Amino acid sequence: MSRYWSPIVGALSPYVPGEQPKLLDLVKLNTNENPYGPSPKAIEAIRAATGDTLRLYPDPASDRLREAIATQAGHGITPGHVFVGNGSDEVLAHVFQALLKHDGRKLLFPDISYSFYPVYCGLYGVEHETVALTDDFRIAPEDYLRTGDAAAGGIIFPNPNAPTGRALPLADVERVVAGNPQCVVVIDEAYVDFGAESAVALVARHANLLVIQTLSKSRSLAGLRVGFAIGHPDLIDGLNRVKDSFNSYPIDRLAAAGAEAAMLDQPYFEQTCRAIIATRDQLTADLQTLGFEVLPSAANFVFARHPSHDGAKLAAALRERAIIVRHFRHARIDQFLRITVGTNDQCARLITGLKAIFSS
Ligand SMILES: *Cc1c(COP(=O)(O)O)cnc(C)c1O
Repeated sequence: MSRYWSPIVGALSPYVPGEQPKLLDLVKLNTNENPYGPSPKAIEAIRAATGDTLRLYPDPASDRLREAIATQAGHGITPGHVFVGNGSDEVLAHVFQALLKHDGRKLLFPDISYSFYPVYCGLYGVEHETVALTDDFRIAPEDYLRTGDAAAGGIIFPNPNAPTGRALPLADVERVVAGNPQCVVVIDEAYVDFGAESAVALVARHANLLVIQTLSKSRSLAGLRVGFAIGHPDLIDGLNRVKDSFNSYPIDRLAAAGAEAAMLDQPYFEQTCRAIIATRDQLTADLQTLGFEVLPSAANFVFARHPSHDGAKLAAALRERAIIVRHFRHARIDQFLRITVGTNDQCARLITGLKAIFSS
């Protein structure tokens, strides 16, 4: 605390990102990065963008990237439906400020969800209420259908949800969107490409729907920092007003080039997603054989607990064996481990490590 801080700074509770250890040769299964490299075409495009032109500012509107995202999205999406930012975390920050803050009406999100949401509420002063997941960790659409004075001022949840990995069927997503015409409903699809149905298909029918995706997970570009939102052009205009009051150039020249090439390399994207899904199914079966309860996952991670081994102790014992997974000290989920789906070899090392821990 410093007397020079603006008053809000001392009151913030910042997000705590998963550890990025400096050690090499760890089995790093803690932050849902893709175990495969980015598309070789993305690397090539980034190389081609390094040079003299770096003295020039990038395109403030990222036209070519938005064009590539719109083409990829289909369903009548145009570049005017697309907003891009420096990672979807930055997109989310602008969304909280531009679309989800309505005094007197609360933003709703699940009690177990992406832990950045309450952080943005604190930063931007967004009134909010958390809605409990069911006992089996599902989002119940009916819990988000409130009317009259209790009607929501905004709704946000990831689909698949994080850190549970559970997906909500598209018909249920549409019930929530259609049942809340008074506010924006944001679907955070960071993991959608690993097995859930995207709500982009609903954007043309619902002017209050905003879908957010990222290149960090399924496109293997967490280090490049590119995310985007797709929604009605009026929502995109609101986001642009905030963005141009904050930083006109969130996507640098290298990021724009790499992201555009990655979006257009559909075969590589499909191949790596398929590999991760196959490994996830094997990992799930192997964990179940060891006695774990594993929630059904549509993401590139699994959420699992063991009936006779404490979550925090297991995470610590794995760490001693140079295997890192994520553990959350959060009331309902403190017995769970969130394990990123790595390569087959990394997952095999995890299973070997668990067997050694259980037999010691
Ligand atoms: C990883 C993640 C993000 C952030 O992704 P970036 O684009 O890397 O900022 C957003 N939402 C959820 C639910 C995530 O898991």
